[in-house]
Amino acid sequence: MEKSTRPFEAEVGEMLDLVVNSLYSKKEIFLRELISNASDAIDRAQYLGLTDKTLVADSPEWAISIVADKEAATLSVSDNGIGMTAEEAEKNLGTIARSGTQAFMDALKKDGGANSPEMIGQFGVGFYAAFMVADKVTVDTLHRGEGQEAVKWSSDGKGSYTIEQGDRAVPGTTITLHLTEDFKRFLDSWEVRSLVKQYSDFIAYPIRFREAQPPKDEKDEDKKRREEEEQKPLNTMRALWRRPKNEIKEEEYTEFFKHIAHEYEAPLRTIHYSAEGQLEFKALLFIPAKPNFDLFMPNRKHGLQLYVRNVFIGSDFEELLPDYLRFVKGVVDSSDLPLNVSREMLQDDAVIRKMRSSLVSKILADLESLKKDDAAKYLDFFRAFGRVLKEGLHSDYEHSDKLKELVMFPSDKTEEGKMTTLRAYKDAMPEGQKEIYYLVAESYENAKNSPQLEAFRKRGLDVLFLCDAVDEWIVDTLYDYDGTKLKAIDKGEIELGTDEEKKAEKKELEDAGKEYKALLDYIKDKLKDDVKDVRLSPRLTDSACCLVAEEGAMSPAMLRMMKAMGQEVPKQQRILELNPKHPVLTRLADELKSPTRDDEAFLAKIGALYDLALVGEGAQPRNPLNFVKFFSGLI
Ligand code: ADP
Ligand code: MG
Repeated sequence: MEKSTRPFEAEVGEMLDLVVNSLYSKKEIFLRELISNASDAIDRAQYLGLTDKTLVADSPEWAISIVADKEAATLSVSDNGIGMTAEEAEKNLGTIARSGTQAFMDALKKDGGANSPEMIGQFGVGFYAAFMVADKVTVDTLHRGEGQEAVKWSSDGKGSYTIEQGDRAVPGTTITLHLTEDFKRFLDSWEVRSLVKQYSDFIAYPIRFREAQPPKDEKDEDKKRREEEEQKPLNTMRALWRRPKNEIKEEEYTEFFKHIAHEYEAPLRTIHYSAEGQLEFKALLFIPAKPNFDLFMPNRKHGLQLYVRNVFIGSDFEELLPDYLRFVKGVVDSSDLPLNVSREMLQDDAVIRKMRSSLVSKILADLESLKKDDAAKYLDFFRAFGRVLKEGLHSDYEHSDKLKELVMFPSDKTEEGKMTTLRAYKDAMPEGQKEIYYLVAESYENAKNSPQLEAFRKRGLDVLFLCDAVDEWIVDTLYDYDGTKLKAIDKGEIELGTDEEKKAEKKELEDAGKEYKALLDYIKDKLKDDVKDVRLSPRLTDSACCLVAEEGAMSPAMLRMMKAMGQEVPKQQRILELNPKHPVLTRLADELKSPTRDDEAFLAKIGALYDLALVGEGAQPRNPLNFVKFFSGLI
């Protein structure tokens, strides 16, 4: 292999520049990141070795070793894991823009450096943390298996890297950091020990430390003692999920969570349990405090790692948890699966199915108790992950009753930023209210300004606002709650008030209908391309008009999806409702009767009425230019 020097891809270069020049605190986390990569590489080798024996022909004792060379001022982290081929080294360490690079930079800029170094692992760019403390980094690696070639990668982090044939003879990887003057303290044995204890104690493989140069004139017995000492791992290696709960300190959970989730803050909830009986497994699950950047990306990762009897099998198994719980991170360790389990086998495995159902119940029960015990914290949780959790109503029929207890919505009566549960809404329903009212809207502001709310406000009735994109999908499953039906206030006919009131209202509308018949017919005829019908409305008090859909009409989301699938989309015509008590109506009726009416101007007014209804619900008028002209003329 020819030696060559290549530029980092622009994004990576830019990020490195930021890492080197603008992160000042917590630089010690570079060690955690390198150890975590070493551990990942061993996990992978061990897993692949289960089915491909040639990869583990040397029967390795899996281990990570840290060597401090005070003379050369280098610190190196070695593992005997899977190693990298030349292509892998190129791809993983600098050419192809890793998906997290841009996201990390955005977060960096936003956060102003406060938490940034700690965040680095979250974005899958932890390796670059090495450049915070080193002015040169070398990677010596040899991929496991027959016929592989050693590779040496090195860079000063300033725009380019060099790749050439290496001389490593044993499989695995060594990362060597040439520490800058300010960071030579990381060569001290006590410093390294305390960092490993703090950040990496639960790593499943022994992490050993030694100095490159043994003390001069060392006596035989000292040498023996030193070598014994060097054999002792710095970490306890105890799989946290296998230890009894009452022995584990909160900090240990937190560090473990940071390790597996690549997070930098403590989790919101920790769920640690073991299932016994029919199905035996241990689970250590975490609900993060904040959403990860890829929560809504199509290539997002699933949060659980799978172990079988303490052997790491893999991460990112979508079978273990439904998609709507993808924000949950953690470890599941099964005693019922075979060690050589493959991804394909998991897809329709009875053990996995039962495990999944148990995990879901446990998580939902934990959220339920959080909701009961600490409403403010639950609201924070729901703001962060509610949009994801709600997807479950659409996809998980089995748990829909529990999910209905957990979902929250803003409503006309909640303060801005707050939300209410269906239970709280129902408990607060005044006597005589038989349905749970809701309004689907693009945003909270649109909902809050909707003219449809007028009649409800007048009667003191609350209306839920469904304004997340996912809400349109779940309204069908939300059909009812605890025996009470949900009703969209902008679909079909709405009847409010007591029987008496309804009667009176009906009569009033009928009378007004007769009075305005000519006008309604006229408008219906002129707007026949835009609306299906024109009628008088019981919903409005202040606004002149609004648009409503027919009962059972397709939701805008459904229409969008049909369009995306290339299906013929029926033109959805809605109904224009007019407020019989609004002065505009009287005026228009009078004008219609007037013999001196200017037809063109009158038509423009009718069109503007329809546009007003569109604008009132936060949509665009049909022709913004005409709309502006009309109103400018009016002014
Ligand atoms: P992440 O660990 O989140 O993937 P990193 O920036 O820490 O991101 O590492 C980048 C990639 O480099 C890893 O995914 C892995 O493919 C490769 N890599 C890093 N260190 C090692 C190692 N010690 N052995 C093998 N591959 C490694
Ligand atoms: Mg990493």
